[in-house]
Amino acid sequence: MSSCATEPCAVPEAAWRRALKLIGQADEIALSCHVSPDGDALGSMLAVGFVLRSMGKRVVASFGDRQFAVPRLLRFLPGQDMLVPPKDYPAAPELMITFDSSTFERLGLLRDHTAAAREVIVVDHHLSNAGFGTVGLIDGTAAATAMLAEQLIYRLGGRLDRDIATCLYAGLVTDTGSFRHSSTTPAVHQMAARLVATGLRTDEIARELWDRSPFGYLKVLAAALDRVTLEDGLVWTYVTRVDRAAYGLPYAELEGIIDIVRRTDEAQVAVVLKEDDQGAWQVSIRSKGAVDVGAVSAALGGGGHHNAAGYTAHDTVEETMVKFRRELGKA
Ligand code: 5GP
Ligand code: MN
Repeated sequence: MSSCATEPCAVPEAAWRRALKLIGQADEIALSCHVSPDGDALGSMLAVGFVLRSMGKRVVASFGDRQFAVPRLLRFLPGQDMLVPPKDYPAAPELMITFDSSTFERLGLLRDHTAAAREVIVVDHHLSNAGFGTVGLIDGTAAATAMLAEQLIYRLGGRLDRDIATCLYAGLVTDTGSFRHSSTTPAVHQMAARLVATGLRTDEIARELWDRSPFGYLKVLAAALDRVTLEDGLVWTYVTRVDRAAYGLPYAELEGIIDIVRRTDEAQVAVVLKEDDQGAWQVSIRSKGAVDVGAVSAALGGGGHHNAAGYTAHDTVEETMVKFRRELGKA
């Protein structure tokens, strides 16, 4: 196996060395990932957390959501005893490591803690990563942050066990769209083979991630699909707080709707506007190739990748779509 999960490796050797040195010197290490964590963010963080703990480090892990709760579909991940809510997170950590967060803003309530931390190692695979922090383990060609987390684990002298592999697999399988996206390189499958070889149950993980929606999800999905619109290669819809309230459906359950909307053959770009509990629109965007929705999203205050991106909007649905179409037109 090469020394790097992806070829060519974008992380300079000096950055790995500096990260290992800081980790070696630290007694307590504070881990964090982006708000509303997905499988890659939470999985990468917990996987590294296991290894740091086995090295004798005190480990705390968190993410900066106002309502601190692990999304239902990620509750099967092992290692959640490492998690503390933001209010119990060290105010000025000696060493912090962030996972899958492309910007400082994506750390939410943990921004002040990050700003006050002595050293911040940023582990991420977003091309758009602005490079906050003091050490960047950033590779925009990696399919998932989990690939960089695996590298970090090996370089720390850690070994994969089933718990660690389950966390990393959750990141790899979600960020590659179940090994379907163009980011699915031989290195991705090779990593998957190493993970599966630990004895993890890919069928059970798949069921946890995709086949445990509450009944209300189907009803909310039906409402979203009922008002879906196709216009000039763009397919889009929205889901309101009212839609969800009727079935007591948490916001986090909406994540998979974009994957259904994007199936539309006539569309190159798919958009779902999801109203969160605060009344803001979380906009999910997907592209089938030519259009760089990461750039569109960045122009609207968000970020992401060429084929998958998102941002937050505070306008009405109509105004949000007017602004979105305008940016899409420029892309
Ligand atoms: P999703 O639609 O799954 O929520 O987001 C897709 C991708 O877009 C994420 O992996 C993330 O890279 C990016 N993204 C989503 N929302 C935001 C946001 O509010 N800000 C930034 N910078 N990126 C986002
Ligand atoms: Mn990711």
